Amino acid sequence: IFLGPPGSGKGTQAKKLSSEKKWPQLSTGDMFRNSIQKGTKLGNMAKSYMDRGELVPDQVVIDMIADRIHDSDCKNGFILDGFPRTLPQAIALEELLIQQKLSLDKVVCFRIEDTELVTRLSGRRTCTQCGSMYHVEFAKPKKEGFCDRCNDFKLFQREDDQPQVIQNRLKVYHQQTSPLEGYYNKSK
Ligand code: AMP
Repeated sequence: IFLGPPGSGKGTQAKKLSSEKKWPQLSTGDMFRNSIQKGTKLGNMAKSYMDRGELVPDQVVIDMIADRIHDSDCKNGFILDGFPRTLPQAIALEELLIQQKLSLDKVVCFRIEDTELVTRLSGRRTCTQCGSMYHVEFAKPKKEGFCDRCNDFKLFQREDDQPQVIQNRLKVYHQQTSPLEGYYNKSK
């Protein structure tokens, strides 16, 4: 499990580990963004929460992860990026792992100051095509506003990387997700 606030680098590090170990990266945020792009019912529902920086209801996320970990590419392990985010999700995950005869190897906690997270998130830009991340100051593309890798596909700013939504996402993280650090420390 990669556990940490938005903008702490969970996704970036999960991607690296995933390609090194050949474990799939299960990012619940990416799954929702895919559903939004496809215009599914799940996507439309998730969007209303995501745009406000709120969490999607637990049971929706739990069902989505339960489905995904049954896929054959998950049988030798997987990296959870952005799940669990609440205590009920963590408890549901335990049950899912028992059912699948899997065990949790590690929880990696990312700890970064809020001010740094705001700087990172507000300058973050993503490729519409390949999902590559850039930053307007720290990781500029060669041509402003366009992806280096995808033949000049346009970069966009995520709705939830707008200043007010960022503040709410951090508040939600401190209230609902950071207690999981203690939960996993206790169960070590
Ligand atoms: P992320 O890309 O991980 O920052 O997730 C973007 C948004 O998707 C979050 O702000 C939530 O609205 C939603 N989301 C992603 N993962 C979860 C989760 N485990 N539980 C509830 N909502 C989630």
